[in-house]
Amino acid sequence: MSEDIFKKITSHAKEYGFIFPSSEIYDGLSAVYDYGPNGVQLKNNIKEYWWKAMVQIHENIVGIDAAIFMHPKVWKASGHVDAFHDPMIDNKDSKKRYRADNLIEGYIEKLQQKIEKEVKKASKRFGENFDKEKFLSESPRVQKYKNQIREIENRLNNALEKQDLKALKELIDELEITDPVSGTRNWTEVKYFNLMFDTRMGATSESASTVYLRPETAQGIFVNFNNVLKTSRVKIPFGIAQIGKAFRNEIIARQFIFRMREFEQMEMQFFVRPGQEMKWFEHWKNKRLQWHLALGFDKNFYRFHDHEQLAHYANAATDIEFKFPFGFKELEGIHSRTDFDLKMHEQYSGKKLRYFDPETQETYIPYVIETSIGLDRMFLAVLSASYQIEKLDDGSERIVLKLPPVLAPNKVAILPLVKKDGLKELATEIFDNLKWEYQTVYDDKDAIGRRYRRQDAIGTPFCITVDHQTKDDQTVTLRYRDSMKQERVPVERLSEIIKDKLHFKHLLQSSH
Ligand code: ATP
Repeated sequence: MSEDIFKKITSHAKEYGFIFPSSEIYDGLSAVYDYGPNGVQLKNNIKEYWWKAMVQIHENIVGIDAAIFMHPKVWKASGHVDAFHDPMIDNKDSKKRYRADNLIEGYIEKLQQKIEKEVKKASKRFGENFDKEKFLSESPRVQKYKNQIREIENRLNNALEKQDLKALKELIDELEITDPVSGTRNWTEVKYFNLMFDTRMGATSESASTVYLRPETAQGIFVNFNNVLKTSRVKIPFGIAQIGKAFRNEIIARQFIFRMREFEQMEMQFFVRPGQEMKWFEHWKNKRLQWHLALGFDKNFYRFHDHEQLAHYANAATDIEFKFPFGFKELEGIHSRTDFDLKMHEQYSGKKLRYFDPETQETYIPYVIETSIGLDRMFLAVLSASYQIEKLDDGSERIVLKLPPVLAPNKVAILPLVKKDGLKELATEIFDNLKWEYQTVYDDKDAIGRRYRRQDAIGTPFCITVDHQTKDDQTVTLRYRDSMKQERVPVERLSEIIKDKLHFKHLLQSSH
């Protein structure tokens, strides 16, 4: 996959009604997007897959839907007011703003590319006898680059951990990092920039107070800990799941829906006995990967990235990274958050947030394992893994979204070969029968070949063509998206044939 493919996917998403820039008639709003008719279906189906896999099939996980606005003290307690910030730096010539850590990471990326170049050169030189592992561990040039990377990473992590902005600036100067736009090194100092959006709540300017748009959904779960405990039958270990909007004033928001300022998260906090968190961390790490793999995309698109540098509240953390068209990037985070959040909310609210364990007869603040995935990022992952340009036997090309059928925006398209001769009426009748069970589309415009292409492009797994023979023997042509195979089937058997492939059950079973 490449940047070029990424551009194609982005314009495909717009052309076929998946994603539009927000307020486009006013030239858009940076890093904010709207979902179109096909996009909203695909997004809802991804949500449903997550919700069912988390809540429906686990008797010890329940859901909530907390408000976006929360008491301002929540964000004091969680640490967001004081520490949810990114280090930023401006270039005085281009007036462009960057994340200081991203500039340094970009430099590391370049060194990595140099290593790859060395490997390519050597493999050409040695041909079949080339031993990549040996070369990587012995080539002096590769060693030099590797050492450089290690040193820079150490300094970067140290500076971030100690919140040492001067050290970040020194690193940028020493590495002679230039602005990709102006090409100069005319940088400002590094400063912190808080990512939370705030607004005013209340009628008069005197009585109004500052509230934040939540930057994550997790806190809505922690503050409802007692409510859920009292109103449901959950016993430790148990989880609370939530899907909802989150807002971050990202310094640079590029790469389409990968990094947005308004986005949606699907988070689950799993409460466990102190001391058992590592076991559950491993459990959820594997479970969550399995959830992704069940979709059937190439398993090499996924990898874990264990964090060496941990946030102050975590004692273990990993990312599930996905191979986006622009490289491997975080798709989901799994964090062992200790008892940090509940403890802080106890302190700030003065209310006890504890669990009485009937088995051990002890009362304690549970430890928490969090799984957190961006819905929009997941959407992009699904879209880019599904997007394929296929060369056909006749030399033509087709663009097809090979979406898992359960996630496809439309399951079935009903296509009368022509509108006349009663075929339209017959097709409408089939549509009216299937619509109760499946998201079904009807299309009678353009030649049949073009209509197939259109359904391929939006990932509809089944097309049903109604022709003159249908009138005689009550059969239709059923066309499969991926193989393009067509078979003649009786109308009355349609639902039964497609049902199996469209049921969440099988997907959920292989995700479990
Ligand atoms: P990143 O390092 O990419 O900024 P993060 O580590 O800050 O992400 P978390 O706070 O762990 O992300 O959020 C959990 C998930 O929410 C991420 O794995 C990602 O899928 C999603 N997410 C976070 N920020 C954004 C954003 N600006 N736009 C879209 N999705 C996001």
